[in-house]
Formats: sequence, structure tokens, C-alpha cells
Amino acid sequence: MKAFLRIVLLSILFVIASCSKEDDDEVIINNGELILLDQQFNLDENVPSQTSVGVVRATNVLNANTLIYKIITPETPFVINSETGELLVASTAVIDFEETSVYVFDIEVTNGSTTTKGEITVRINDLPDSTRSAEEKARLLAYFKYLVLREESQPASENNTKWSTTMTIFITGNFTAKDEREIAEFLDFINPLFTDGFSMKLVNSIVEANTEIYFESIKNLEENRPDFVGPVSSINSGKARISFQGNGEIRSSSIWINTAPNNRLATIKHEFLHAIGLGHSNNRNSIMYPVGGANSSLLEDDIFVIRALYHPLMKVGANVNEIDTALNQIL
Ligand SMILES: [Zn+2]
Repeated sequence: MKAFLRIVLLSILFVIASCSKEDDDEVIINNGELILLDQQFNLDENVPSQTSVGVVRATNVLNANTLIYKIITPETPFVINSETGELLVASTAVIDFEETSVYVFDIEVTNGSTTTKGEITVRINDLPDSTRSAEEKARLLAYFKYLVLREESQPASENNTKWSTTMTIFITGNFTAKDEREIAEFLDFINPLFTDGFSMKLVNSIVEANTEIYFESIKNLEENRPDFVGPVSSINSGKARISFQGNGEIRSSSIWINTAPNNRLATIKHEFLHAIGLGHSNNRNSIMYPVGGANSSLLEDDIFVIRALYHPLMKVGANVNEIDTALNQIL
């Protein structure tokens, strides 16, 4: 077979995460069949996991076999879709400009017969960082530990508990359309606070669910399902029970909502927050205060606790020291 030189003129489109585009024409002399150019992307710092960075493009000159993409540099905070070449932020990665402003790593693409490599550069955009004062940071750190380590009951827990799989929720019992709507609205509110890949969603059957929220009167709860959340008292407007692994990973939960009060939204939120790993608050204005009022809105501090617990830096079962380290970075 005659060897010959192929001259291929390519027009390469760089996909930039910030939506600006650069065109670049390049002449490539290649004696293989597969071309992968070095490519550059820009990415904002502090973006959630699964954020798309852009699409790596390879050109398969001689055949139309499916291409398979792979990152070959170890400990890269990105993953690549092996079929589409889309580059995403990895599930536990934290993109912090102050820590790393440029990532350079190699990827490999194969078409079954030929394999080639390319270098990818991801430049991180610097954004304004936290302006919290030292006092505010210390207060939030203490408040986080109060809720997450359940300091209301002594001795407090030594480790946090949190979900690492999707919470799938099935609503049962004597619920109303309003209850169902309020739960859906609450999920729409809370899901964007999670940046570690966790989410909460409603499902249509108990077999798909790892969480049941059961609306019933005390009398019917005690008669029909006395073991559902354990013993309750006549003053309880709801109760949540979680079950978790030895490492602190919550795997299922059960929530009972007393149908006697007409306004149940604050209780629904309170019990869901127990079910994702929060204990009671020492702040009377918090929805997690053990004695609830009618106010169903969440304090900024409570929102911070939820964000920080479900932040990629906060690992499942973190102890006090690990919580301090993670919060100092998050704050
Ligand atoms: Zn409670």
C-alpha cells in the first residue's frame, strides 16, 4: 500500500462555556485517521457538579465509526461523556479559582482502530468571593453544627448524616390537593440549594419510593400503622424517622403529618428537613425550632445549613473536624 500524506483543512469551532465563541482555522498534516486538537474552555468558579464545560470535538477523517472519549489524566475534576465528548464538572469537584485557576489534562479518543490524544485546557473565571465577616462565619459554623450534629439532644451526634442518592417521595394517606401542591412547590424551592448531585422528587408508586409521607390523624396512625414513625404524642403535628448506614448515609425516611391542623405547610417543611439530616434549631424564628409557629418561610441561616450540608465539599458522615474544614472552605 502506498503511503501518502494527507492534508486536511479543518475549521475548528471552540465551544466556550461563557457563550463567547472563537473561530480558528488551522492546517493539519496528519498521517493517521483521527484528529483531536488541543482545545480550550472557560468556566466560572463555584459552579455546581454536572455543569457542562463544553464539548470536545475530534474529527474522524477516514471512517464513521463511533468515537469513544476518555480523560486519561488522573484526579481531574471533570468527567467526559464517552459518546458525545461533553465535558462536565465531576460530582464531588469544587471549582475554586483561588485554588486552581487553570486545569490542563489529556484526553484520549478512539474510533476502534486508531487512538489519539489531545490536551484540554479549562480556564476558571474569577468571581467575587464571600464577604462574610469573621463573626458571621463563626456564627454560621456554630449554627450548622447545632442543626446537623443535633446538639439539641446531648450528647450530640459525632457525624453528620445525609443522602447521597435521590430522595424519591410517595405521598399517601388522607392528603389534599393543597398538600400535594405545597410539597411540589417546596421541592422546586429546595432542589436548587443542593449542589452535590442530591435531589428530592415525587414518584408515582411506593415501590419507586425510598421516602413515604403519610397524612393521617393521630387516631388512625396509631390504629393502622403504629410502627410507621414510632410513638407520637397528641401535641405532635408531625414526625420524621430516617434510617441511615454506619457511614452516615441516609437511605430511607418516613414522614407522618398530622391532618388535624389545617395549615400544615410549616410542618411539612420541618419534617422534610429532618428527613434530609437536620435536627432542631435553637432559634425561635427558625422553622426547625421544636415548637412550630405558622411561619413557614426559611431563615437565611437555615438555607445556609441546607446548602452547606449538600455541598460537594461536605462528605457523608463528616466528623466535627471534617465539618470545620469543609465549612471554612464553603464560607
Ligand atoms: Zn422536629
